[in-house]
Amino acid sequence: MMTPEEALRRFWGYESFKPLQREAAQAALEGRDSLVVLPTGGGKSLCYQLPAAMGRGLALVVSPLIALMDDQVASAREAGLAADALHSNLDAARRLEAYRRLSRGETAILYVSPERLLMEGLLEDVAARLVLIAVDEAHCVSQWGHEFRTEYRRLSEVLERAPKAARMALTATATPEVQEDICSQLRLRSPRRLVGHPDRPNLVYRAFPRRDQLVQILEVARRNPGSGGIVYAQTRKDVERIAAGLKRAGVSCAPYHAGLPAEDRRRAQDDFVNERLDVAVATIAFGMGIDRPDVRYVVHANTPRSVEHYQQESGRAGRDGGSAECVLLFAASDLAAHRALALKDGPLAPERRQALERQLREIGRYAVSPVCRHRLLAEHFGAAYQGDTLQQGVPGCGACDICLGETKSLPSEEALLTAKKILSAAWRTGGRFGAGYVVNLLMGKAEERMKRHGHDALQVFGLLKEAGEPAVRSWTDQLIVQGFLEVAEEGDYPLLRITGAGQALCRDEGTVRLGVPAPQAPRARKKSKVLERGGSPGPALDEELFERLRLLRRRIAEKLGVPPYVVFHDSALAEMAALKPGTPEALRQVKGVGDRKIERYGADFLEVITGKR
Ligand code: ADP
Ligand code: MG
Ligand code: ZN
Repeated sequence: MMTPEEALRRFWGYESFKPLQREAAQAALEGRDSLVVLPTGGGKSLCYQLPAAMGRGLALVVSPLIALMDDQVASAREAGLAADALHSNLDAARRLEAYRRLSRGETAILYVSPERLLMEGLLEDVAARLVLIAVDEAHCVSQWGHEFRTEYRRLSEVLERAPKAARMALTATATPEVQEDICSQLRLRSPRRLVGHPDRPNLVYRAFPRRDQLVQILEVARRNPGSGGIVYAQTRKDVERIAAGLKRAGVSCAPYHAGLPAEDRRRAQDDFVNERLDVAVATIAFGMGIDRPDVRYVVHANTPRSVEHYQQESGRAGRDGGSAECVLLFAASDLAAHRALALKDGPLAPERRQALERQLREIGRYAVSPVCRHRLLAEHFGAAYQGDTLQQGVPGCGACDICLGETKSLPSEEALLTAKKILSAAWRTGGRFGAGYVVNLLMGKAEERMKRHGHDALQVFGLLKEAGEPAVRSWTDQLIVQGFLEVAEEGDYPLLRITGAGQALCRDEGTVRLGVPAPQAPRARKKSKVLERGGSPGPALDEELFERLRLLRRRIAEKLGVPPYVVFHDSALAEMAALKPGTPEALRQVKGVGDRKIERYGADFLEVITGKR
């Protein structure tokens, strides 16, 4: 009988498990239910693929991401597993094939959409061989999560029909509340709770006040020339505008949103996954169906709806473990837009409304608090974080704008004084004007209306002129997010008002923190980031060989009709280009090169490495 370690080496070519993978697989092998919470890139697939690889019976994987299923099946088959999928996009011939293999008992792992599983009969046919039912993206089952799906609610009925199979619920983003909900909704039976640390140390987080959207996005793209990136924007119009701007600046990119013809969307997604396109500019509809591992940056041109959304969307960067950056461009008006959208069909039930307000407050706080962003994210998901306390003797995580010193906070007395100036401007104008008006007042920019109201004679007029408009705008947003100011919708105009907490602050009750982004852009980084991780010195990467290996990989992938990463990851190619193995045995030592890959591609890659091709 094969051990889990042997299976890991033979099928995937990895020497060791990532955190909690072994425990998860073990639970399944023992027939126990489990809840697995691991960040994106944490290796969740292996948790349910391993028992299947060990030949213990059939594993069923429920996933809502139909677009991703074919790639997942391709990846599993490349590792040497008998994998199949059943979903609504399958043509009749392929569906028949899948059913045939299933009825012959050949299938080791079957990916199904929830709709398929809910259909009569499927489970009854396979129940006898079924050892594991894995529910991927399990947060979809929870109303408190950020992606509730009604079909997921009905899964428990189906699970009850296969009482002998172990259940495994997997997700990347779940607050403790959502974890509880998953366990009870899927009726997990005394599950092993395997909750990994949510931090993604290879991601550099940055959050800046939005000034000039396109310029700020271009800065990120220019820091990462020729790399894969995703830019998220809120509306279709924004997507079109940003994509056009990036294209004009010479960035290889395409727009992606629900308003485009299906054919264009499919092509954009395809080109992106197959590395014919560097950047996708998209509404959040994009990304649910892509697993490209070498995305080097994710920029949010607008503030996302919640920290959970942010974690998931930004998490699409750096799945391969290499360094990558996540940049959020914040404006308080984005939060108002989210609120308006959520309420456009009428008021929400009180607890939904409360949840909405809490989510908006939390993402706002993330964006403007001058506190280590790794820490804020980890704590949001209920985990302790110590990474920012000491890095080689220097405080700071070394991987966020705060700890890198790109955003500084005002000394506390100066912060209080500045806050009071802004609050008093909102107070003096009686809460009857918008944020823009109040900022202009503080900047000493007298508009017609201001003169009419005599506001240009107020003491606060021009009081923050020296600080510059971007800073004053950002501070106003920061005060909104910290609850000292509020934006009240009255008629068509959002009005800026001081809150009770704001009035208290003016009496020196309470504390406030204000951040100021440094004017200079972060320095550009070198290109082959894939090698930056881990810090193991080792031989240098032969860039030229690396490019030739990528070319070979792309040719093979095109012939097979699979994304390049399914053949080998960048990290495997980088290791080949550094170590230059000359024999199949040596090539086998490279991480991510398993038995089946040696068999299929070993000779081709060795020829390129040894220069015979
Ligand atoms: P998740 O679903 O948690 O986001 P995946 O299952 O897609 O993560 O795995 C992320 C990446 O990590 C994949 O490219 C996979 O090949 C790699 N990986 C998984 N397990 C290991 C391991 N034990 N050692 C090295 N790499 C691994
Ligand atoms: Mg996954
Ligand atoms: Zn930090």
